Amino acid sequence: MATLVMKFGGASVGSASALTQVLNIIARESSQWDNVLVVVSALDGVTDMLLEAAQFARIANQRGYRRIAANLRSRHFAIMEELPLDRPERNTLKADIDHLLSEMLDHCMRIASNLNTELSPFNSDAVVAVGERLSARIIAALLRQNGLRGAAVDGTDVLVTDDVYGNANPDLQLTARRVDQVLTPMLERDIIPVVTGFIGATANGETTTLGRGGTDYTASVLCALLDVDELWLWTDVDGMMSADPRELSNAQVIPHLGYSEAADLAYFGARILHARMIAPLAQRALPLRIKNIASPEQTGTLVYSASPEEEPIIKAVTSIQGLSLRRPASGSLAGVTRLVGNTLFKTLGMRSEVLIASQSSNSSFICLVIPTSIGIDGVDRLEWALKAKMAEYPEKMPWTIEAVGLVTAIGRDLHYAPQLLAQMLDSLVDIEVYGLALGASNCSVTVALPLNESPEAVRRIHEIIVKSG
Ligand code: ASP
Ligand code: MG
Repeated sequence: MATLVMKFGGASVGSASALTQVLNIIARESSQWDNVLVVVSALDGVTDMLLEAAQFARIANQRGYRRIAANLRSRHFAIMEELPLDRPERNTLKADIDHLLSEMLDHCMRIASNLNTELSPFNSDAVVAVGERLSARIIAALLRQNGLRGAAVDGTDVLVTDDVYGNANPDLQLTARRVDQVLTPMLERDIIPVVTGFIGATANGETTTLGRGGTDYTASVLCALLDVDELWLWTDVDGMMSADPRELSNAQVIPHLGYSEAADLAYFGARILHARMIAPLAQRALPLRIKNIASPEQTGTLVYSASPEEEPIIKAVTSIQGLSLRRPASGSLAGVTRLVGNTLFKTLGMRSEVLIASQSSNSSFICLVIPTSIGIDGVDRLEWALKAKMAEYPEKMPWTIEAVGLVTAIGRDLHYAPQLLAQMLDSLVDIEVYGLALGASNCSVTVALPLNESPEAVRRIHEIIVKSG
């Protein structure tokens, strides 16, 4: 029995024409494989709108969140109108959408009635989870309408997670039981489950989310628990690229990446993958393909075990924001690292990720990676929280905090290729480098530098890739 899991990201489900393409792809693959399971994101931009609604609710701006609910309703209804759905299917869908949006409004009202609190991830998760529930229902209906046995499944019924709201982790044992109860019987009956990505629930049934871009993670967890042969991620670019194509027009597709390379690329800033999604796949040696919804015939990127014959090479360059802490004194770093760790966990629900810690006779420097999965304002939130925390200990903590750029080259066996490291550093000759780290997985080298130098550093390192290719 060959089973394929396909994940469709927000960018690939943004419009009626994109959804028609999704339908064509599912129809084609379901005739090639014994079983197909689909995992979907919310429609493009919907998660951001829902987060905004939750923010409006926090300040009790009823108009604000009601307006967003109305916009979401018209957006989903408009897409439905363009899709070939018959009247009963359309009516059921409309009723479902209205029901979900009224649940969302209830959550917003609950937040609004509880003023003077910060918006907790617990509260925002309940609001945000509606996005995937809306899109999964539309896609399942579209499948049914075209002779395929699609059924929407809520991730809250399948993924059992811890209670780190906003950035939860699935419990594999508990989730495996749900997978057996909910998904396996569907696959046995030739149903195509259309599972909402990104969302889960605690063992007590409280809704959680897995961090931005978490639909990837849902897909890989399901792959680890079902007997799956391949995972394909559908997106709106040709695969994983040598640089962000929105920043560098000569970015090229990377045909093949090892698991660690892909994980580091995601961890150090490429938004195309959720960094935690790779581990479950690597453990089972399951091939992952990243493909463009607009050109399905192209092979895209294959993520798999590294092939032993590959030479050391830089394949990609990426950038991410980090936070640096510096003080004009050396000494134990344990206290500050603990403080940063606790603040990070409290503010963003993540464990501390110290990338660089270096000291000389009279100064100390620490640099943290802020994973993209916490959302675009994560660095600001953390910086703010840390400054507030440190203000409580003025005598102990003469640390200055600065947002920095972390530019990372990803490639194979970079540790064994001093000539590549030399080339990379040489290209940065007139840029101040604050720190340098070789990734523990042998496939990444990161330089910390002033935030405003990041784009230029990326461009120069990318030139090395282009010239070598
Ligand atoms: N819709 C969620 C987000 O925008 C999850 C995902 O797209 O993977 O982050
Ligand atoms: Mg999304």
